[in-house]
Amino acid sequence: MKKCLWCSKTELNTTFLNLAHTIPESLGGSFICENVCDPCNTYFGAKQNRNAEIDLAIKETFYASYIRFLLAFKQIGKSKELARVKSFYFQINIEKLSISTKPAFKYLPGFQQSFCRQFKKGLYKMFLEESERQFGNGHNSEFDFIREFARFDLGDPPVYYYYRLLPFITTLKPMIKPEFSFDKRHYPYLVEEPGFFEFEFLGHVFGIPISRSWDLVIHNYLRKSRSAKGSYFRFPPINIRSITEIDIFLKCIHD
Ligand SMILES: [Zn+2]
Repeated sequence: MKKCLWCSKTELNTTFLNLAHTIPESLGGSFICENVCDPCNTYFGAKQNRNAEIDLAIKETFYASYIRFLLAFKQIGKSKELARVKSFYFQINIEKLSISTKPAFKYLPGFQQSFCRQFKKGLYKMFLEESERQFGNGHNSEFDFIREFARFDLGDPPVYYYYRLLPFITTLKPMIKPEFSFDKRHYPYLVEEPGFFEFEFLGHVFGIPISRSWDLVIHNYLRKSRSAKGSYFRFPPINIRSITEIDIFLKCIHD
């Protein structure tokens, strides 16, 4: 019987009719998590008070990176695909590889903070749904703090962003299709450390705690991470408060 990853309700007391995409379809995501009920699925796609939708915050933040990847692999031709480049907050000029903001994207601290908080929830949401989809371990009580944050807006766990210092050479063609990889073989600079999870998504490297008592292990984690990253990334990582801290257009890509 299906049991919702987020609210623990089962088919006895809620419905599971809609497909829950772990990674937004607009970024090329095609993976489905079976154990997400309809109300929880709707929650991630709906506006909350005046805050942006969690799914939208993810989609918007990574959209320019996604386009940049498609360009690097010459996946975007001329006018037909250009017409598909649509973003609510950003103006993307494919020929000039430039990105500018639309009026909806405000630099006011209130907007930035709440948009970034929604984005962070989205990253945790992708982690938990992909972990459930790939390993069936999403109900583990270690992840309760992720449920509380992403689904119920409680707490404020960190998201660390590693800014690249060296040009990034895009040799991994499969990355055109965004995936959430738990396999570190292709990413020697990512560490495996209990209590933390590092991942690369559309060229960006993040580290997030995956245990409520992460503050006990953060020093070990950062020490290990620093030696794995060498001079490829700026250290220490940024505990993001605004998505303007992320290199969303992947200026570091080398064609
Ligand atoms: Zn639910």
